[in-house]
Amino acid sequence: MVMGGRLAKEEEEMSSKLVYSFGAGKADGEAGMKALLGGKGANLAEMTNIGVPVPPGFTISTDVCTQFYKEGGKLPDQLEPEIREQIARIEEIVGARFGDPSNPLLVSVRSGARASMPGMMDTVLNLGLTPETVEGLAAMGGGERFAYDSYRRFVTMYGNVVLGIPHEAFEGELEAAMKKAGVKEDSQLDADALKGVVESLKDIVKRETGNNFPDDVWEQLRGSVRAVFSSWNNNRAVSYRRLHRIPDEWGTAVTVQAMVFGNMGPDCATGVAFTRDPATGENRFYGEYLPNAQGEDVVAGTRTPRPLAKDDSGLPSLEETMPEAYKELCDIRARLEKHYKDVQDLEFTIQKGRLWLLQTRTGKRTGTAAVKIAVDLVKEGVIDSRTAVRRVEPAHLDQLLHPQIDPKAKESPIAKGLPASPGAAGGKVVFTAADAVSWAERGENVILIRNETSPDDIDGMHSARAVVTSRGGMTSHAAVVARGMGKSCVVGCGALSVDAGSKTITVGSQTIVEGDRVTVDGTTGNIYLGEVPTMEAAMTGDFAEFMKWVDEARTIGVRANSDTPGDSENARRFGAEGIGLCRTEHMFFGEERLPAVQEMILADDVEDRKKALDVLLPFQRDDFVGIFKAMEGLPVTVRLLDPPLHEFLPTSPEAVKRLAERTGKSLQKVQAKVESLREANPMLGHRGCRVGISFPEVYEMQMRAIFEAACSLTKEGVKVLPEIMIPLIGTSAEFNRLRAMCDEVGAEVIKQTGVDLKYLVGTMIEIPRACLVADDIAKQAQFFSFGTNDLTQMTFGYSRDDAGVFLPEYVEKGILKEDPFQVLDTEGVGLLVRMGIEKGRGERPDLKVGICGEHGGDPASVHFCFSVGMDYVSCSPYRVPLARLAAAQAALGMEARGD
Ligand code: ADP
Ligand code: MG
Ligand code: MG
Repeated sequence: MVMGGRLAKEEEEMSSKLVYSFGAGKADGEAGMKALLGGKGANLAEMTNIGVPVPPGFTISTDVCTQFYKEGGKLPDQLEPEIREQIARIEEIVGARFGDPSNPLLVSVRSGARASMPGMMDTVLNLGLTPETVEGLAAMGGGERFAYDSYRRFVTMYGNVVLGIPHEAFEGELEAAMKKAGVKEDSQLDADALKGVVESLKDIVKRETGNNFPDDVWEQLRGSVRAVFSSWNNNRAVSYRRLHRIPDEWGTAVTVQAMVFGNMGPDCATGVAFTRDPATGENRFYGEYLPNAQGEDVVAGTRTPRPLAKDDSGLPSLEETMPEAYKELCDIRARLEKHYKDVQDLEFTIQKGRLWLLQTRTGKRTGTAAVKIAVDLVKEGVIDSRTAVRRVEPAHLDQLLHPQIDPKAKESPIAKGLPASPGAAGGKVVFTAADAVSWAERGENVILIRNETSPDDIDGMHSARAVVTSRGGMTSHAAVVARGMGKSCVVGCGALSVDAGSKTITVGSQTIVEGDRVTVDGTTGNIYLGEVPTMEAAMTGDFAEFMKWVDEARTIGVRANSDTPGDSENARRFGAEGIGLCRTEHMFFGEERLPAVQEMILADDVEDRKKALDVLLPFQRDDFVGIFKAMEGLPVTVRLLDPPLHEFLPTSPEAVKRLAERTGKSLQKVQAKVESLREANPMLGHRGCRVGISFPEVYEMQMRAIFEAACSLTKEGVKVLPEIMIPLIGTSAEFNRLRAMCDEVGAEVIKQTGVDLKYLVGTMIEIPRACLVADDIAKQAQFFSFGTNDLTQMTFGYSRDDAGVFLPEYVEKGILKEDPFQVLDTEGVGLLVRMGIEKGRGERPDLKVGICGEHGGDPASVHFCFSVGMDYVSCSPYRVPLARLAAAQAALGMEARGD
């Protein structure tokens, strides 16, 4: 190849091939080449190689997409000759010619990224139709009705995708034609009606763009390739990538493929199938089809699809109507699952009785299904247990633990649709995606109810607790996207007549208006009026079996953050191996305790303060007894009082007055105290160990409560492992002083009770300086627990309470990849963590290290904690199973995965 200058050099850097062919039993690509060919292109190549019937085609690589963007939207010069060569090859295989009026080859131009982004980017079908070729197509056996049906689809898609004319502009024409002809479905329109539709669609194109619809097939092809590359950056694709953490740099591939026609007549069909049930994981062939239709009809959800296998829906199944094609499809189901060793999601088309596969990909599934499938595949001997552990996404477990409708609830549903994505959720009804977003922003739980959803609704779906559609099947847009999000979803709920205009729903004799409460059960498909009680899922059966494998693979511990005996029991149910953070300040807020806390703060001298603390001591001791008991000998890290004292005093003048009356102090004095505790920057103020140093009685009381609880339980024969954690340490002197006090109190209580108690004293590392002098601190500290919330706040200098104002914008503009309070910033904050561990362990090799910030439950952050050699992570009880899985996947050497 002869090329000049810069381009030539760049060209050398990437692989020289721009396009990869497949068809007639052989392909250049294979399934492993998803980065270059996109998932769709790579799998079409793979299917071709293993002998599955796939219409021939070729894939333009994602490298070309990257180059397209780098060159400001220009396709590389050498692409066109390669495309022409490929088209010639397809012509050869199919026996038709692109643009030939008597025997035309039609192609589809399809998008496909490395990660599947269902429906987010664009596809053009039936490309190559012109006023001449449409006649040729009709003569090739399908007849005029078929040819013009294909033509009107092409003009619509091309007009929309390539020329940027909104769908609605076209939809009216088809509806008008249906009205005029008095038919309900577009499949009932005759050739003349469709011809009329094509003419008016072209008029719209002329009106909207000022140009005639292009009749040069090469121009059509170039335009479509360019448009599909451009669709990588349309709003919904960008939105989807953000939600699923797909990098913007990946780009899409473009696959050009010979058309096969499911709309040629009654012996034709198109459909979508899952090799197992994607909602429950059950091992049964599962899918939907439409007779005499093209692919996009199934996804659009405008016609009611029929089941593949005979069922009790009363609809004619593929099994009954096209038994031979059905049998062949069943064979392919088995072959593909065996080949890929995982559940596949297939697209197929039957043209005149002949079956063609148009796509296969790993089937998206619910959490319940993910676990069941993984466990079943191990039992079937298809994969081993370590592979099973890799297969389930941490977020899947989160879904699995979603609430279910309480079986004891007596409410009866007002409607039932298809159970598209499990979990029960209640909330207020809204009718538009925009309303879902704005209502959710002001803190409402909302349920989004629509006739059908489109990719533009994605933000609204994300904001809603559940999504309901009155139309569409299990593979409609709403169903697929909701499952991916782990959101409760019911589709095809025909009993609801939704009038989005007036924002009302009629169900039988009842009317639901915007803001009314409903409960949606995505597990059964039931919709209830009002809020129905829900309950947590059971963690037995497949789940328990799967988690056993997770724990076999896992090498670091997982603890929970818990402040109460109830939460601690819950945490153990979820598999926590200890408590990584027990916050004691919550214990100061109880209604019998707060008065004593306030008296303690208002005390004039140490004596008074001790009196108040004596009231608190038994309460604290009981709290610890409860928690230690619940944890039965597992380690419990108790953090001494952390927040600034002003948080315990009232602010309103009336409440301050009441406080003065209750304590018998003068109003002036109380006011003065409240005033003196006011800080300009409380989070950087008098809190944590700083309070413990100013008012040692407070920490002393807490230490005593811990030791007394531990010793009395030990006496009863209950094993207790307390770890006393001193917060907000910035210097070793702070720590050493408080550690000495702790050992003194401990020695005293141990001596009094005469028991042998092992305990640790350590610190929370949450101030950057503590990381820098971690070696010094580790001389006395027996463990470090990274408090990454404060550490992030202080490293970035972002106030946790106020950063919400600009952080979303930072993420939006790409200044930050993620919100650092959600996903640990491994570059900056992580460097401090790494340094803290290295310095600490340098001084004390057996230093126990964990994390107790919110990050402990974020999968990517768990991977980081594993990589820096932490002993454990700690997170909220509900995230414990997810953290166990993330930790196991890290140990298996998997890359962190988001979403
Ligand atoms: P998406 O990624 O949105 O599913 P696809 O590229 O898979 O987009 O195409 C949309 C629909 O068109 C699918 O149902 C697909 O099966 C169908 N389709 C794509 N190419 C062809 C083709 N060559 N012949 C027949 N149907 C096709
Ligand atoms: Mg597809
Ligand atoms: Mg903190």
